Amino acid sequence: PQALREILAKRRETAAPADARPSQELSVEHLAKAIETGELEPWFQPKIDVARREPVGAEALVRWPHGPTGPVSPVVIVSLAEEHGLIDPLTFLMLEKSVRFRRLWREQGVDLTLAINVSMDSLVRLDFPQRVADLVERLGEKAEGVQFEVTESRLMSDLVRVLDVLLRLRLKRFWLAIDDFGTGHSSLAQLRDLPFNKLKLDRSYVQGAGNEERARAILESSVEMAKRLGMVVVAEGVETLADWQRVERFGCDQVQGYFIARPMPGDAVPAWVRAWPERRDALFGAAPR
Ligand code: C2E
Ligand code: MG
Ligand code: MG
Ligand code: MG
Repeated sequence: PQALREILAKRRETAAPADARPSQELSVEHLAKAIETGELEPWFQPKIDVARREPVGAEALVRWPHGPTGPVSPVVIVSLAEEHGLIDPLTFLMLEKSVRFRRLWREQGVDLTLAINVSMDSLVRLDFPQRVADLVERLGEKAEGVQFEVTESRLMSDLVRVLDVLLRLRLKRFWLAIDDFGTGHSSLAQLRDLPFNKLKLDRSYVQGAGNEERARAILESSVEMAKRLGMVVVAEGVETLADWQRVERFGCDQVQGYFIARPMPGDAVPAWVRAWPERRDALFGAAPR
């Protein structure tokens, strides 16, 4: 909050004169305010365990339903926040709201792990692991139920600077996932030395294009490698039954995508989970496996 106020104050000093035409564009002031007032919120996309066909987790994705210019894309929100030093307050807002939802779900008999996307700009701060551990503990939750996702392409360009923070997060028993795997340039040797315990295959390898032979080769060998390294493999962007069947055949452990569910508000999650058995039968057929 202090950092936010400073940024707002600084921007006010350099603001345009009062007679300037009001801009309809999304500005950093809008974003800073929305973070401060908690107007941004996490929506959640469920993840399904492939073998059991049961919901096991949910990924938090930032949403700004009533932005000054209408709904704003997360990609825009995140890059604006990164550019103006607001990513850390954004991460903690998402973390706090998500953990509160997790507790709410459990009170309704629904137990899902949380996945939170973190920017590299948060991971370069050495106190990040302690601060998230403090927050999660203050809210009465356990680190084991929280996973952090880091996008592969950004990770590899700045690995050395964040390795220490990643290790500290693992020591505190948080889960770490490499997101959008296949879009960056990790080498096998690097993966061996990284503390990740989850790998999320980018949807470009999962969807229709995954039929192409070269994409399939990457899919197949990534899954095998990740499993040998003891990682849980998630396929993202599963949109069709054919996508599901392909990633099931390659041995993916968990699946996320529009085929299962689109992201939804936090208070819609328990009802979605309760309705899942019926939806599952509709998707896969009711016959026992
Ligand atoms: P991501 O972490 O790879 O999240 C998956 C994105 O794919 C989400 O887009 C999700 O809505 C979308 N998606 C899920 N299933 C399907 C599918 O079957 N087909 C297709 N075409 N898309 C699917 P979204 O919500 O627009 O988020 C985009 C990206 O923005 C995320 O990619 C993540 O990198 C970033 N992001 C979102 N929320 C946050 C946040 O709170 N913090 C940070 N640092 N980044 C965030
Ligand atoms: Mg993600
Ligand atoms: Mg992803
Ligand atoms: Mg992605």
